[in-house]
Amino acid sequence: MEIVYLLGLALIGWVVIEAAMGAILSVTRSIKRAKRQALQADQLNRELAEASTEYSTKDSDRWKGFRRFSVVNKVLEAEDICSFYLSPVDGGSVSAFESGQHIGFRFTIPGDSKPTIRSYSLSSGAIDDKTYRVTVKKVPAPPGTDFPPGKGSKYFHEELNAGSIIEVSAPNGKFLLDREDRRPAVLLAGGIGITPLLSMLETMSSEGSDRVCHLFHAVRSHRDHAFANRLIELDRSMENLHLHTFFSSPEAGSVPEGVHTGFLSVDVIRETVGTLDAQIYICGPPPMMQALVPALEDAGVPAEDLKMEAFGPASVKKKKSSQALKSKEGSRSGPVIKYGSSNMEVQWDGESSILEMAEENDVDIDSSCRAGSCGTCQVRLLSGKVKYEDKPAFDPEEGHCLTCISIPDGDVELDA
Ligand SMILES: Cc1cc2nc3c(=O)[nH]c(=O)nc-3n(C[C@H](O)[C@H](O)[C@H](O)COP(=O)(O)OP(=O)(O)OC[C@H]3O[C@@H](n4cnc5c(N)ncnc54)[C@H](O)[C@@H]3O)c2cc1C
Repeated sequence: MEIVYLLGLALIGWVVIEAAMGAILSVTRSIKRAKRQALQADQLNRELAEASTEYSTKDSDRWKGFRRFSVVNKVLEAEDICSFYLSPVDGGSVSAFESGQHIGFRFTIPGDSKPTIRSYSLSSGAIDDKTYRVTVKKVPAPPGTDFPPGKGSKYFHEELNAGSIIEVSAPNGKFLLDREDRRPAVLLAGGIGITPLLSMLETMSSEGSDRVCHLFHAVRSHRDHAFANRLIELDRSMENLHLHTFFSSPEAGSVPEGVHTGFLSVDVIRETVGTLDAQIYICGPPPMMQALVPALEDAGVPAEDLKMEAFGPASVKKKKSSQALKSKEGSRSGPVIKYGSSNMEVQWDGESSILEMAEENDVDIDSSCRAGSCGTCQVRLLSGKVKYEDKPAFDPEEGHCLTCISIPDGDVELDA
């Protein structure tokens, strides 16, 4: 009887211990689960915080830095020319922009260790409050060279598709349509230089502007004749618009009615418009700009009536023959530029930009427009001040400077 009683007690004890162990295990599991959930929530919060502090809005309409956009559509406009429609990943609205402005893109090309930055003009008028459009031409290597083709435009064409994510900076730039002037607006577009000018035309059309406008669109042939149909539609719907298309290397049988052949010249522009007393907006490849801008100035067009946007080559860096003077103890006679991360200190030569001084001394700083409008060359200023000869069109981030158009204002140190 006693044995049965003892066995009973042992059994009850075992059940109690089992239950207690189970309870302890379950509490431990719950604590672990709660900890894991807290960690996951932390991680999520961190990711959300990072996503939302990657850019910050100064006011409700404009963001600073880079914001994640998704490609919502990709449209082939001509051979090697594609439009990309982009909307913010956060579902918010895009900033308003002025026709003629551009946006910056930051992306990392597979195999590269650091991101690439490129600018592309907005190529439409306002679409809706969620969408931007840019149009990118795939840039080949210069003929007869074995240089690689343009890497940014290749990335856009080959890697970006509907659903791809890319970082975008807010619209910037001062190549803007002057809405006050009533004289004719003469738009000179060379090749892909049509993008900011098409945006201006779209805006004039949607605003019902009656200002006389001549668009000269110079392309090589029907192959790179982007937006041909849209331009014809605008020409038909806008009484004040006169469209003049030029093919410089036409292919037999592929010159549509009304399209001229040959190159654009000042004489052609003057004869067609009937006057050069106009506001002239020009955007095209370097040879076109180099041919037309001085010729228009020589023909008497004042600088304030000539508005230009250059799509400069981004990888080609200007080399100067003059040697930068290395700073030596006791021989300083001007500001010293210190490129902190490259451990390089040079004495300013009195004229070059901080970017040019860097290039002369093999300090690596990316650049694109070299005119203060794209932001590619912005670098953090670690100490000192810089001066700009012209007010930059691009707003550098807090504590940064645009090296392509800045000079030192006393000794400076940069994070480059
Ligand atoms: C304000 C602004 C607006 C712009 N808007 C537009 C737009 O709307 N649409 C558009 O298509 N473009 C636009 N651009 C131009 C655009 O930003 C890029 O410059 C263009 O796409 C070329 O960049 P990439 O990276 O493809 O070429 P990069 O890699 O910069 O190369 C440019 C050229 O240099 C050659 N090259 C490469 N390496 C070398 C080397 N070592 N030596 C010599 N040559 C070399 C390449 O083969 C190529 O021909 C704009 C530029 C600016 C500044």
